[in-house]
Amino acid sequence: MANLKSRLINTMIHAVGEDPDGADANDWYYAVAFLVRGMLSEQYIKLEREQSRQQVRRAYYLSMEFLIGRQLTANLLALDMVEPISACLEELGHSYEAVRNCEFDAALGNGGLGRLAACILDGLATHGYPGYGYCLRYEFGMFHQRIENGQQVEQPENWLRFGNPWELERHNAHYPIRFHGRLIKHAEGSANETVMWVETDDLVAMGSDMPMTGFRTPAMVNLRLWNARSGADFNLDYFNEGDFMAAVKDKTVSENLTKVLYPNDANERGQELRLKQEYFFVSASVQDIVSRYLSENGDIRNLPQKVVIHLNDTHPSLAIPELLRLLIDEYRLGKEEAWEVASQTFTYTNHTLLPEALETWSVDLLSRVLPRHLDLIYKINHRHLKAVMSNFPDDQGMLNRLSLIDDGSQRIRMGWLSVVGSTRVNGVAKLHSDLLKAGVFKPFHQMYPERFVNVTNGVTQRRWLLQSNPGLASLITSRIGPRWTTDLERLKELESAVDDAEFMAQFAAVKRDNKARLAERIGELLDMTLDPSALFDVQVKRIHEYKRQLLNLLSVIAHYNRIKEGRAVNPVPRVSIFAGKAAPGYYMAKLIIRLINDVAKTINADPQTRDLMRVAFIPNYNVSEAGFIFPGSDLSEQISTAGTEASGTGNMKFALNGALTIGTLDGANIEIREAVGAENFFKFGLETPEVEALRAKGYDPNVYINQNAELGHVMEQLRNGYFTGGDHDRYRDIVNTLTHGDHYLVMADFSSYMKSLEEVDALYRQPEEWSRRAMFNVARVGGFSIDRTVHTYAREIWGLKPLFRERRA
Ligand SMILES: *Cc1c(COP(=O)(O)O)cnc(C)c1O
Repeated sequence: MANLKSRLINTMIHAVGEDPDGADANDWYYAVAFLVRGMLSEQYIKLEREQSRQQVRRAYYLSMEFLIGRQLTANLLALDMVEPISACLEELGHSYEAVRNCEFDAALGNGGLGRLAACILDGLATHGYPGYGYCLRYEFGMFHQRIENGQQVEQPENWLRFGNPWELERHNAHYPIRFHGRLIKHAEGSANETVMWVETDDLVAMGSDMPMTGFRTPAMVNLRLWNARSGADFNLDYFNEGDFMAAVKDKTVSENLTKVLYPNDANERGQELRLKQEYFFVSASVQDIVSRYLSENGDIRNLPQKVVIHLNDTHPSLAIPELLRLLIDEYRLGKEEAWEVASQTFTYTNHTLLPEALETWSVDLLSRVLPRHLDLIYKINHRHLKAVMSNFPDDQGMLNRLSLIDDGSQRIRMGWLSVVGSTRVNGVAKLHSDLLKAGVFKPFHQMYPERFVNVTNGVTQRRWLLQSNPGLASLITSRIGPRWTTDLERLKELESAVDDAEFMAQFAAVKRDNKARLAERIGELLDMTLDPSALFDVQVKRIHEYKRQLLNLLSVIAHYNRIKEGRAVNPVPRVSIFAGKAAPGYYMAKLIIRLINDVAKTINADPQTRDLMRVAFIPNYNVSEAGFIFPGSDLSEQISTAGTEASGTGNMKFALNGALTIGTLDGANIEIREAVGAENFFKFGLETPEVEALRAKGYDPNVYINQNAELGHVMEQLRNGYFTGGDHDRYRDIVNTLTHGDHYLVMADFSSYMKSLEEVDALYRQPEEWSRRAMFNVARVGGFSIDRTVHTYAREIWGLKPLFRERRA
């Protein structure tokens, strides 16, 4: 301890360069982080030596997003150092709480997909699998959301402002990345065809490493982030060409490539800069992977024995033609042989069923930016279409449907390319995987049935319970010991605790404390006082029409009307909490945020309902904020239209923290309900086949509005300016979407949802029964650990064995 303190003081002097006597919390954050980074570095060097020596097979996880959040506590927990560091800081006159709050969230992702990637690295590292992550080093990650006059305002978040103490720049990891140019072909079309890609514009990718700790193990996983640099940094001639100012300007333009993360935004689709980011990312990653393989192994033709490259969605799918290009143009493999190697190397996760989210790139853009890759995609397609013809000889329509190139729009279908170039394709929940096989990928499934598998998502209990809910974590450990931290199925042993009155009282007390903590946080952010004994009813996730924040909000308005009109029988005091970001160009999502805030303003100011209901929109939902929210929630809103949410992982975090779910039979909700028991889950709404049938027969939302006077009243209030001080226009577009088409069937599910909410109220009036059911959620949710997810990928998709099994006590 004295030793740790003196090392910390030394780090303050040597690495931060501040006087320990005058150093502030931010300086101490850097000192602790540098000290820990040194330890991680030492551990990582040993690990890499061992992995190289054993020539291990590695899984490379390529994801354009990693939504990591803060790392200080995660790393200290992994090293079992939270307490000694807190004690040192205390002696130095600083609180650990204040120090850890100095860290910016590493928000290199939009939402669920990026958070999954972060959880997967945590699981790989914790269980000693030889894994490796790749991403871009965005200077600006997810934007910071402020709410001004009820509306979302986006601000750039410069998380690297004071430097990122977790990363190490790797001066030796740099690769040239080429764009544009033209092709020179020799012996075109023949077996000896050679292609030269010339007159390209070149950039350099520079790697920075963020080692990710595994929990109490010597194993780790590295996350390598690529930064765009201009060739000028590596080639002095560049500056010698005469025009110094132009060269520097050129340099700045090149380096913009990794400036900003694209927010999931329909309006930003098809942007050249995004295509370049994707290619820059995969080219650097694939070159790095091949170079590591060759330094440890011999023959490039055996690459698939030691390397599996995983595509997290289609964003990295250009890795397939990129590997093919390297094999053919650089390593001189024959076309067939190269395809054998490349197509045995990849695996792919699909993340969405929404047709507007399936990625395509125009032939025209590709031909300008990546002519060699377009050329190779044509060759892959040619080969692929031959296989299609032999599989469906009597169905000419199949050629058009399965072609990698959409003939009409002249766009490349990146999803098709990913399926054709991978050995395994997985969905992220059972329903989602089934819908993939029956829907978008149906003919592919007929051609390659063994290629399609399901791997239901999971979440890491290290962050989402141990770190963010220390109260519940230590209560659990007091009863069943600490093994649940790496083997979550052990939570099953808690089932007997539901009959232990003392334990259940402690369980309820932990929830109350967490709700008080969340109430305090909301108080700080929104200047409102909340009663922690009220039902905390929470919907936090990206704002999207398919996730149906509107359905929740309409029920809030209906509930408000009931109270005002004296129709609510013995209403339960309720706080409706919302949080989430809207893509900057997604007009409807931003309008929904504004409506939530307008409704909140009206309701929160009404003395007649003040004691019975409040509405809060928490700004800037991110991983750190989520750490307050899940532990302090009673009710988890998972209410997407059946058949739209691929899996969801927020649903898992809520249940793990002892919230009950109100949800549709969508995504992983179905499996969660099966696991926790139907009696411990509030199910409502149409199921996927019913949704399909209703749409097929011609859905008219007005039928439902006319049948339900309460719903009619709510719609009228949106129309007549009830929440806008008389502005009739503000929500006209919302009213129009709901009354014309209502693609996500909000009106159709409204009555069923309201009934289900009444059951919620009824149960909440029996606090002990509520706690019992919450406890069953915790005890039975162990299957939704990322550890189960990672073990499944390792065994069934990647063919990976753990290098380490040992664990520090
Ligand atoms: C878990 C998580 C998500 C995903 O939430 P869903 O409800 O599954 O959409 C998004 N953002 C953050 C910050 C998360 O922690």
